[in-house]
Amino acid sequence: MTSQRPLIACATYRKFVEQKSPIEVYGLMPAYTEAVFAAGGLPLLIPLGLDEEALQNVLERVDGLLLPGGGDVAPGYYNGDTADGSVREVDEARDRSELMLVQQALEIGKPLLAICRGHQVFNVALGGTLWEDLLQGMPGSQPHDCGQNGREFLAHTVQLEPESRLARILGAGEVQVNSLHHQGIRALAPPLRPVGAAPDGLIEAVELREHPFAVGVQWHPENLIHVVPSMLNLFRELVLAADAAR
Ligand code: MN
Repeated sequence: MTSQRPLIACATYRKFVEQKSPIEVYGLMPAYTEAVFAAGGLPLLIPLGLDEEALQNVLERVDGLLLPGGGDVAPGYYNGDTADGSVREVDEARDRSELMLVQQALEIGKPLLAICRGHQVFNVALGGTLWEDLLQGMPGSQPHDCGQNGREFLAHTVQLEPESRLARILGAGEVQVNSLHHQGIRALAPPLRPVGAAPDGLIEAVELREHPFAVGVQWHPENLIHVVPSMLNLFRELVLAADAAR
């Protein structure tokens, strides 16, 4: 028997691929699955279109959950401005699926790593709100939508809470991160603990206490594992928690 890698379910998203006529696919950028694999986990993609019971079936059989980045959460889910023109790439089927996944994962104590949009979904699932657009809405916001410089570009620092699990995982009080988002946490959901902040004060990392492992980060650690090697520790910690929870 080979040793069994912990199964990490990864949420996916819908894309349209240009063929003779455009076709719809569900997928994920390879950096996510590569980081999970490099950390000792076995990544599995969850398709969209599953109902609540099927998602529960998935979570009961896997050992951990990863929520990736992507488009904006529909503002209706957080009492936001549904007419805000800066909101983009909304997919309500994806929102419903990921909000259910977060709620179920928390209920059954399944380890969860939530990245970028996932970090925002994590907050909304627990009753928090988002800025529809940081530059237009958040007073004193610095640039966070730095994709034009590439996904490995270190755009700003994040100050970590000294007593946090995240600071221990990353082995530092401050880290350099990439920044590929135009939205962010506005009101933090009460159960979440803010454990990392950008220089402008935006909450870029959260943790849930009383849970084996539930961490959200606003940056993209999967794109940094060769630039800031400690970022792989986030995936290692997810896989370790997943292993311990089976
Ligand atoms: Mn940022």
